[in-house]
Amino acid sequence: MTSILQIAVPCPLRQLFDYLSEEPENHWQAGMRVRINFANRSCIGIVIKARDVTNDIDTRKLKAIDEKLDDQALIPEEILQTVLWVSRYYHHPLGECFQAALPKQLRKGETSDLQLENWWFKTDQQSNKKLGTKQQACIDFLNDYPDGISQAAMKAHLGTVLSSLKALEQKNLVKQEPFPKLPIAQVELSVPFELNNKQKTVIEAVWQKKAQFQPFLLEGITGSGKTEVYTELTEKIIAEGKQVLILIPEIGLTGQFVDRFKKRLNTNIVVLNSAVSDGDRKQGWLLAKRGLAKVIIGTRSAVFTPLPDAGLIIIDEEHDASYKQQDGLKYHARNVALIRAQKRGIPVLMGSATPSLESLYQVEQQRYQLLQLKQRAGGAALPKVQLIDSNAAHPDHGLSQLLLKNMHQHLNAGNQVILFINRRGYAPVLMCHDCGWQAKCQHCDARMVVHQQRNILFCHHCGFIQRLLEACPECESKQLKSYGAGTEKIEQVLQKLFPDTAVVRVDRDTTQRVNAFNDIVADIKQGQARILVGTQMLAKGHDFHDVTLVGVLDTDQGLYSADFRATENLAQMITQVTGRAGRGDKKGEVIIQSQQPQHPFWESLIQQGYKKTAQDLLQERIDMAMPPVSNWAVIRAEAQERHQAMDFLQAVTSILHSTQQQHVLILGPVPAIMEKKGGRFRAQLLLTCQQRKPLHQLLDQHIQAIGSHKLARKLRWSIDIDPMDL
Ligand code: ADP
Ligand code: ZN
Ligand code: ZN
Repeated sequence: MTSILQIAVPCPLRQLFDYLSEEPENHWQAGMRVRINFANRSCIGIVIKARDVTNDIDTRKLKAIDEKLDDQALIPEEILQTVLWVSRYYHHPLGECFQAALPKQLRKGETSDLQLENWWFKTDQQSNKKLGTKQQACIDFLNDYPDGISQAAMKAHLGTVLSSLKALEQKNLVKQEPFPKLPIAQVELSVPFELNNKQKTVIEAVWQKKAQFQPFLLEGITGSGKTEVYTELTEKIIAEGKQVLILIPEIGLTGQFVDRFKKRLNTNIVVLNSAVSDGDRKQGWLLAKRGLAKVIIGTRSAVFTPLPDAGLIIIDEEHDASYKQQDGLKYHARNVALIRAQKRGIPVLMGSATPSLESLYQVEQQRYQLLQLKQRAGGAALPKVQLIDSNAAHPDHGLSQLLLKNMHQHLNAGNQVILFINRRGYAPVLMCHDCGWQAKCQHCDARMVVHQQRNILFCHHCGFIQRLLEACPECESKQLKSYGAGTEKIEQVLQKLFPDTAVVRVDRDTTQRVNAFNDIVADIKQGQARILVGTQMLAKGHDFHDVTLVGVLDTDQGLYSADFRATENLAQMITQVTGRAGRGDKKGEVIIQSQQPQHPFWESLIQQGYKKTAQDLLQERIDMAMPPVSNWAVIRAEAQERHQAMDFLQAVTSILHSTQQQHVLILGPVPAIMEKKGGRFRAQLLLTCQQRKPLHQLLDQHIQAIGSHKLARKLRWSIDIDPMDL
């Protein structure tokens, strides 16, 4: 008996495709993978439905599948439903949504068998003779693990013991068996802190709702002990046999954070981020699916990890922009996490020192419960903040006298200093002194950034690289000068100004190598590096106890940006960096250099703090009917020719206007803020609506027509629901 399978195929078309199978319907389950030939290439599809072929169906035009890859559904029902929801909500083709949800090796069709390793178990037999020390040590150890333990873990605890184990096996005292390979646990666990009352209250609040859907926003200043709350709650939840999913931002370092969980919890912790090999990611996903991994810590895409025994989802730094995917399927992991938690009836704990306006709004609407940690956990005091006018600073490198003087003081006292500048490279502008020519990217509406060490000009928007020029291409003058400062220049200047002090730079250029970041962090922690110069990467969640001075250089661009989230992001960033000062028992100090020290933003942030600033910003958004109060969707197009993108979006506008509706406002099309990027011209159309439903209905109604419009074939277009920027 044959059947027809409806298959989600990784392609931009918004439909399922029918294929024939020689097996009957009841041999198929939704969530199995098949290999098929699609448009003359072999690819992996996901079975969504199967139905037996009956006489009235003409199957002559259908192709057969090439291969059935799974005997049982690879994708559990809950994940299948989540991906279906994601596809509907983000108006993204289903087949591509599965691509985002599966680890690479699984979406490429590799086996879904778990990798096995050797485990050792004690038998019921007792030895009647005295054993050698090493053999006895093995027996003693295995006594503590009645369910067996891996050879790798035994080696980690006892050293090389294979020959002793083999000898014991001969005596029938132990036996070996293959078992799914688990991540190796930390050898020594650390003793937990006695939590303070505030922390206990937070834990109690979540614990009370452990069997129901409840989002919590944990607002806790940096250093207030949020991570400690996460580990404690995780320990309690897994003690009940449940799993905990912990999402962390994508940026550089997760090592420190993960270590704190490994040191606290005697359980199987799986890490899923970009530093983990494809093989380990697959194994981690499968271990979670089998319920063998109890704690899953991962970046954005980990939100799609199967959790048969889900008990809690934690989202650290919930405001972080890396939770929103910027290309392909533009999903927000916080959003997906909430949907999953809702379906499963479990709580979600979202923590941040600088909550997003979205989440603060949800608190106002009483959809999220607010929990707060207002004091630093270890008793450290908050830093003193000074704002100074950067126009008085050194014209070339931009460091002010006051900042340099304070750096000397803090360094002389044996402490560390962080200088934060959100621009990598040497200098953002290369200009000809004679004719005024500036180095611009050929492919973007952007300047080329000077990277002196690599002797190149580099476009940070498209990656275009050019040799550093020696003469002006316009007038051949040799008077080329660079202006402004990036991390590389600041590093160089500081090496000259502080010749006896180790300076380390932390940005994307210095941390590309795997583990580079961890190595730098180790240097910082051991005090080898005394001055740290870096971008955003330095702003996030690190716990450096000897940093007592933080300098913030030239971050004002956010105050003039056309992006509606720029001020929110600036407030978050400044607050996060500021939180790096004085984490240990030493008092911290912060110096912010600004082009516009009189801007009311600064007074609000410094005098009244993040929360008040955020509340004012939220009120502005409410007054102007912007997100999170209203719902936005952006349709973007990019094309080889300038007019193509605009023409297409004009056509989209007509299609959207073809039905009567009064709720959705359609604005544009307009060229993107940076119109040309990577050699393509970009334009966008903004759809706004007070309610969510009419907006989504309008898109549902017309998306097929938009996709099959004749102009659509000549360009790339996409829909971005709840865009992070415009
Ligand atoms: P956050 O995640 O909010 O930045 P952490 O959990 O990292 O805060 O805590 C900040 C510092 O305080 C860490 O060094 C941590 O080890 C310490 N800490 C946290 N909770 C306690 C506590 N109850 N008692 C003593 N120290 C604590
Ligand atoms: Zn010139
Ligand atoms: Zn470019």
